[in-house]
Amino acid sequence: MRGLVFSALVLVAGTAGPAAAQFPIFDAHVHYSRPDWDVYSPERALSILAGAGVRRAIVSSTPDDGTLKLYEKAPKTVVPFLRPYRTRDDMGKWHSDRGVQTYVEGRLKRGIYRGIGEFHLSAADADGPTVKRFAELAAERDLFLQAHVDDVAIAKLLTLYPKPRFLWAHAGMSSPASTVGRLLERFEKLYVELALRTDVASGGTLDPEWRAVFVKHPDRFMVGTDTWVTSRWEVMRDYHRDVQVWLGQLPREVAEAIAWKNGERLFPPPTQ
Ligand SMILES: [Zn+2]
Repeated sequence: MRGLVFSALVLVAGTAGPAAAQFPIFDAHVHYSRPDWDVYSPERALSILAGAGVRRAIVSSTPDDGTLKLYEKAPKTVVPFLRPYRTRDDMGKWHSDRGVQTYVEGRLKRGIYRGIGEFHLSAADADGPTVKRFAELAAERDLFLQAHVDDVAIAKLLTLYPKPRFLWAHAGMSSPASTVGRLLERFEKLYVELALRTDVASGGTLDPEWRAVFVKHPDRFMVGTDTWVTSRWEVMRDYHRDVQVWLGQLPREVAEAIAWKNGERLFPPPTQ
């Protein structure tokens, strides 16, 4: 009996650890926003990332100070993106808010950021003055724009602002694989991250349409968690275990690109 209990414990421990991970992960969608600070210290948040197999991560936060807290502790792990929201109230109207523009221009002077976002936007507001200014800043400084928008809005953004590279959050959240594939063919400045897209492999089996798009465009995709509420930190390890399952169903070089190498190529770590 004692032996049985012991074997069961070994089994549980064996499946819970990062040992199940096959690929290192570049996570393209992490937030460390104000509600998270009281629950997880920067050290704890970084150890959760490491425990989930995440070697590096794009981090943006509301307010941006959260990103700086993590970046100061781990500048080689954290790829800082500047989120334009001072508080959550900025989410709906930032596109035409001069105050947001001034805030972003001021903080970019730190010179550490690799992108602006994640931001939310509807197609109707894609030509807002602050959006236009962000596109100019991104083009001048070679920053990505991480946009949580639908497929109509991402096409409009890429048409209005052809210079900067866009990182399309959640692949539009509900856009089908075929639509994502068409947009990738149409816009060479488009990159896609798959945070929260459990439809890529519902039930653990890689969807054939997603597979086809990944194999056709292996250098354009990254995975992501999206810690949009504090409870997401608790499931990060499980989430990435599921990601590893479908990555393992792809040709190895495609899986490696999506898991890690695309992030590493697009956001090379700081040299010093
Ligand atoms: Zn997000």
